[in-house]
Amino acid sequence: MIAKKMYIGGAWTDAASGKTFETLNPSTNEPFGTVPLAGSEDIDKAVAAARAAFPVWSSKTQAERSAVLNRISAAIRENAEEFAMLGAKEHGMPAKLGFGPTMGASGNFEMAATYARATGGDFIHSSKPNVLYCLDRVPIGVCALIIPWNLPLFLMSQKIALSISTGNTCVVKPPSVNSVIGLRLAEVIDGVEGLPKGVVNVITGPGSSVGHALAAHPGVDCVGFTGSTETGVSIMEAAAPTLKKVVMELGGKNPAIIFPDANLDQALESLGHHQFFNCGQACGSPGRYYVHESVFDAFLEKLLACAKHQIVGDPTLPETTMGPMVSVEHANKVMSYIESGVSEGAKLVYGGRRALDKGNFIEPTIFTDVTPSMKIYREEIFGPVAVLLKWKDEDAVIDLANDNTYGLTASIWTTNIARALKLGRRLTVGTFSVNGHNLIAPEAPWGGVRQSGIGKEGGWQGVLEYTEQKMITINLDEE
Ligand code: NAD
Repeated sequence: MIAKKMYIGGAWTDAASGKTFETLNPSTNEPFGTVPLAGSEDIDKAVAAARAAFPVWSSKTQAERSAVLNRISAAIRENAEEFAMLGAKEHGMPAKLGFGPTMGASGNFEMAATYARATGGDFIHSSKPNVLYCLDRVPIGVCALIIPWNLPLFLMSQKIALSISTGNTCVVKPPSVNSVIGLRLAEVIDGVEGLPKGVVNVITGPGSSVGHALAAHPGVDCVGFTGSTETGVSIMEAAAPTLKKVVMELGGKNPAIIFPDANLDQALESLGHHQFFNCGQACGSPGRYYVHESVFDAFLEKLLACAKHQIVGDPTLPETTMGPMVSVEHANKVMSYIESGVSEGAKLVYGGRRALDKGNFIEPTIFTDVTPSMKIYREEIFGPVAVLLKWKDEDAVIDLANDNTYGLTASIWTTNIARALKLGRRLTVGTFSVNGHNLIAPEAPWGGVRQSGIGKEGGWQGVLEYTEQKMITINLDEE
């Protein structure tokens, strides 16, 4: 079993209480790692270390910070194979597929390093000729970064990179089920030259205690959170008394709207991938397919082929395309959605059962005959479960797509680009894609509206989220 320590103020430490907890291998549910269980003393220590490092790090030049971020990027790349295998063993993502997000983690630091060098402010021309107004961009202070389990390395790297690029310091709480991955990233970061102690701190423990305490902590200035909407609400409540800035990337139930003139092969290459990638445990995974009735059968046939093509099994093997769900609890939750789909009258056309005789494996699953009142239609399943509806009226389908509390992302599939752009404008989402789904890139900001989030992550806008605007006014009168 792998044992790790927390990373506080540049030192490797056990919990003050001496308590630990175990993470599991989701393929077997046998113990995988043991990590410290942080308590309030450890949380205070980590926040104090980040506060102490803030004046040091924020007064470095942009070039100095940028150089450190580039070194972290390179260090992740050098360890990419190990990270991908670690992801397979502690999280369940097939190592071969996990290599991409691992390189993405490296790319997050590289992108932030580039933008960090360009961060600056504006001169403002005003009606007062003898006053010079300048708007500066400054770091916020100490950021608590709370990470979900679905892409732990990628999302942790994104938040760390964005926040520290402009001079913030941080205390990171990885998802408890993937704590070893989080602490391994801390080790890689620690090995990089030029990062002052305390700029990055990583503490481990459950969200309900450690995450909550960080969100509420008076020594924390900003909370960067990715996770479920429910947890986002509770974090906002915890952060409210001290009026912290929050950046939130939350859940989604993402529509994919397929028109009669869509290139179905192109659509399925992308949608089929995103439906089953990481067992559907992705915020941007297609959550509701609206397929025009004239192409419904053809679309279904191709989606079925994608499902049948999946190889569910040991995520350390190169041929595996779908590993286990991340935990017993989450697998049970996804199975309960499948059961509710059946009991509410949807037609289960493929899968729907657990796969293999141990671990948290679930078959790729497809439902048709879904109606808007069903739970599988309205709620985020976060599993390998495709939910299909037929449509025939263009206005009605846009209304249906918008009739949800989420607003993360959507895709429109048609060869009529003008139509796609016009309809896309009517979708209440943070991102809509035309003839592609989840076309993410480190340079492109990502984020939802409504109950899918607040603010953007990634790209220049993502860097700016972790800054404050500070006005500098200078009186130019000479007497
Ligand atoms: P989660 O909300 O259960 O947990 C996320 C993190 O919050 C974990 O580190 C957890 O320990 C912590 N946490 C839990 N309760 C807390 C509390 N009361 N106070 C503070 N922290 C707490 O989410 P999850 O199950 O790990 O991740 C899946 C969710 O994340 C899905 O809803 C998915 O859509 C969302 N997600 C969104 C994006 C995006 O970019 N919009 C990206 C990835 C995942």
